[in-house]
Amino acid sequence: MHNKTLAELRTGLNNGDFSSVELTGHFLDRIKTLDKNYNSFISVTEEFALTQARQCDERLAAGDAPNLCGLPITHKDIFCTEGIRTSCGSRMLDNFVPPYNATVVENFAAAGMVVLGKTNMDEFAMGSSNETSYYGPVKNPWHSNCVPGGSSGGSAAAIAARLAPVATATDTGGSIRQPAALCGITGLKPTYGRVSRWGMIAFASSLDQGGPMARNAEDAAMLLNVMAGFDAKDSTSVERDVPDYTATLNQNIAGLTVGIPKEYFNEGLNPATEQAVRHALGELENQGAKLKEISLPHSHLSVPAYYVIAPAEASANLSRFDGARYGYRCKEPVDLHDMYMRSRAEGFGDEVKRRILVGAYCLSAGYYDAYYNKAMQVRRLIKNDFDNAFNEVDIIAGPTCPNPAFEFGAKGDNPVAMYLEDIYTIAANLAGLPAMSLPCGFIDNKPVGLQLIGNYFEEARMLNVAHRYQQSSDWHQRAPGIE
Ligand code: GLN
Repeated sequence: MHNKTLAELRTGLNNGDFSSVELTGHFLDRIKTLDKNYNSFISVTEEFALTQARQCDERLAAGDAPNLCGLPITHKDIFCTEGIRTSCGSRMLDNFVPPYNATVVENFAAAGMVVLGKTNMDEFAMGSSNETSYYGPVKNPWHSNCVPGGSSGGSAAAIAARLAPVATATDTGGSIRQPAALCGITGLKPTYGRVSRWGMIAFASSLDQGGPMARNAEDAAMLLNVMAGFDAKDSTSVERDVPDYTATLNQNIAGLTVGIPKEYFNEGLNPATEQAVRHALGELENQGAKLKEISLPHSHLSVPAYYVIAPAEASANLSRFDGARYGYRCKEPVDLHDMYMRSRAEGFGDEVKRRILVGAYCLSAGYYDAYYNKAMQVRRLIKNDFDNAFNEVDIIAGPTCPNPAFEFGAKGDNPVAMYLEDIYTIAANLAGLPAMSLPCGFIDNKPVGLQLIGNYFEEARMLNVAHRYQQSSDWHQRAPGIE
């Protein structure tokens, strides 16, 4: 069962080949026996899942089941889940049990999906390797001495190791696409405003966006159908119709113009990654797409602009964790000030502290114009580059990241080297564009990701191109050497 896609599992359930209780039990057993090798889950919600599965079986039998009824999913531990601990990978929220569900979680519950648990992540989604999690690193199922990417490394590894068919994740600067690439799965970051952020613990609010992770584009489309849509509780949510993302998956891509940014094939790109990506682009050409070189001249400024804007917003968002309202509180504070200081000092890890310090500095009087304002101006230039490009092309394609998975500790004492992992992914967040990563090859048995970037609200076109590619390649069907 665990080798089937979500679409195949739905068919199996509807045909009565197995029940939701059997299906859910199968994945729970796998998590129990195998996840000690990966550490991809922070919480496993066994009882809750089996209760939900029983209810789903009843609904399926009664014939009143919603679309995805009885199919298992796991949520990144950044999405608030009512009655289920939501840690955000941090000691700060190790004891936090939300009284409500995030809108995304609600949407999946309404679609009838069964929650297996909550997946591991970098602390407050800050990282590219899952090494900053309070709950310890996640191991890449393809190579146990390598990172799975981050920050959604738990969701990506769980899917790659066949511990869950699909998962939710979030992407502020690459956290869906980079772990998808490093674990050999398919991940999509929607247009900013397409998916509600309500109940998704905030890192950098103008960049954060939730999205699906799955084995292939078809499953990602099924999930996006559930996730996307207007939510009055999120003021940045966009009121706009949601198409059926599965309806156009098979459309012919002949005649489509695919922009290839020359800046994404620079000297920082691993030559073997380049080879795999160019091969994939050749396949799109075989199907009749036209490749066109384009320029995104401000690409090199995306990482520096992001590392002003994201920490600035994080420093404001994370000020709510003060030991008073929820989360960690230090022992025996002598006064209020001491409680604030020690709760934050003990509750946050090093990377989170680094971001808060950088962010508070960039926003402080006298530096705001030099850093934050300047970064916002650069952000506009980056958006303009994409607007110009989309006057000439329908979609953009290139690598997701410069290198395949790296070893634990390889970038531990060099934050800038870690930050450069996101050199090709961050621009889509700064511009608010949808983007995805899909498997397009291997280097020494390590997966390589092809990135697609679409114009605003053109998730359907991206999924169409991805699906067509997956119809003529089998990279997404390969599994790491596991039972
Ligand atoms: N790796 C980037 C960072 O550390 C992006 C993280 C994310 O998208 N959440 O900020």
